[in-house]
Amino acid sequence: MNFSTKAIHSGQDPDSATGAIITPIYQTSTYFQNGVNIHKGYEYSRTGNPTRTVLENSLAAIENGKYGLSFASGMAAEHTLLSILKPGDHIVAAEDMYGGTFRLFEEVFKPLGLRFSYVVGDLESFESAITPNTKMFWIETPTNPLLRVYNISKLATLAKRHNILITVDNTFATPFFQQPLNLGADIVVHSTTKYIAGHSDVVGGAIIVNDDETYLRLKFLQNAIGSIPGPFDSWLTLRGIKTLALRMLQHQHNALAIAKFLTTHSAVEHVYYPGLESSPYYSLAREQMKGGGGMVSFTLKQADVNIVNNFFKGLKVIALAESLGGVESLVSYPSLMTHGSIPPEKRLKIGITENLIRLSPGIEDADDLIADLDQGLASSQNKDKISNCK
Ligand SMILES: *Cc1c(COP(=O)(O)O)cnc(C)c1O
Repeated sequence: MNFSTKAIHSGQDPDSATGAIITPIYQTSTYFQNGVNIHKGYEYSRTGNPTRTVLENSLAAIENGKYGLSFASGMAAEHTLLSILKPGDHIVAAEDMYGGTFRLFEEVFKPLGLRFSYVVGDLESFESAITPNTKMFWIETPTNPLLRVYNISKLATLAKRHNILITVDNTFATPFFQQPLNLGADIVVHSTTKYIAGHSDVVGGAIIVNDDETYLRLKFLQNAIGSIPGPFDSWLTLRGIKTLALRMLQHQHNALAIAKFLTTHSAVEHVYYPGLESSPYYSLAREQMKGGGGMVSFTLKQADVNIVNNFFKGLKVIALAESLGGVESLVSYPSLMTHGSIPPEKRLKIGITENLIRLSPGIEDADDLIADLDQGLASSQNKDKISNCK
């Protein structure tokens, strides 16, 4: 089956108990046992819940993986995943990553004895960072917020040669545009909060793998640690998956239109979008993705907090907020918002400067979004004008 069909049907047979077409919300913590340990496969909802099972099967199907596991948040998924490692184990990670992932590495797992090296995302830098203790490569692609694209299959081949697992955070691309397991990755993680659930109404995370042993260890840890999503959150995420294909097409349509518009605007210095032919990542993105994705970042020629705030206040449709991937357009200021947990020197080294703006176009009309950006940029330039607050 192809993606859109899988997203609606795979793992989502009519409910076996009632025939309900839509998976019911099994809002229960426990299950009747007809004699000790005699039950229908469920005994306690931390271990398993039927609504969650359907979500996990659906996640596995859309990533073209064997096993899916869902979590209370993207960070909960990452926490559980890192728990397969032991003190002394070493991870090589591409340096431009989600701020919360960096914080989890440095402030939670480093004190527990894991070791981390951060490299720019090319093959040589990954290879030269490998030590005898290296157990995992960790990349996001496209990256947040600079939308750099890393070569998954080349890094996976290198990892395999050294018996290292490679994890890809596929939150930005989504399985609609990119399926890392098909490209040789071992583990895919997601913040399903973003495009997968897609409506800015639920926080969640996921891990998808093919290897039986890795799955069993993760399944054990999911239950042992317990950072699982509840039945209603699982249901919301499942509902989001059904429209993922349609939404991603419109997100991409809007992102490309906006990227092209911004490139021509006199107040804009640089536009980051891997779907632009002028992007250094264009050909690699075409190779490993089915499109440029939904996110656009750009820098203003001039920026201080006032200019940036005037821009944000000038916007009437696009809202200033953390997060991304919802049906409504959101804009954020990485240096002080999503990446505020990264030390300033490191932030600047990666390229997260004061004039950088990250945009998550929703699925509204592209012309309306462009008009909104145009007026926002005009008010950012107008130093005397006091913008009305939203
Ligand atoms: C948001 C995000 C996360 C963290 O997920 P939460 O659901 O917020 O816990 C991890 N990685 C990326 C790329 C993200 O955008």
